[in-house]
Amino acid sequence: MTAGAEILIVEDNARNLKLVRDVLEHHGYATAAASNAEEGIELARARHPALILMDVQLPGIDGIEALGRLRRDAATADIRVVALTAFAMHDDRERFLAAGFDGYLEKPLDVPAFPGQIAALIDGQDMEAP
Ligand code: MN
Repeated sequence: MTAGAEILIVEDNARNLKLVRDVLEHHGYATAAASNAEEGIELARARHPALILMDVQLPGIDGIEALGRLRRDAATADIRVVALTAFAMHDDRERFLAAGFDGYLEKPLDVPAFPGQIAALIDGQDMEAP
């Protein structure tokens, strides 16, 4: 059961952020949002969301470094974190999973598939290869 779960979106592109937020809220999720990693880490500590969607390319600290900081902090170490990235290459997907992300979603989002992907990620299912 994932309805009402809170999802933290860390995304510096306002349009992408709005799209993700609108789709998630339409499907009954609560959301919190940050436009940079530092703010995202603070929100993760304060709110302990069910899932974090982490843009990889962020100003300042990038999403991979942010993931490392979350994992090294006992307050946030167990939160599931999914990479959001425009990179479409299979090698990058492997690199992000190797970095410790719990999953990987490519932008632009597949909007019809997105709610199902999120529900599976919150439930801790492994992602299927695209
Ligand atoms: Mn970005």
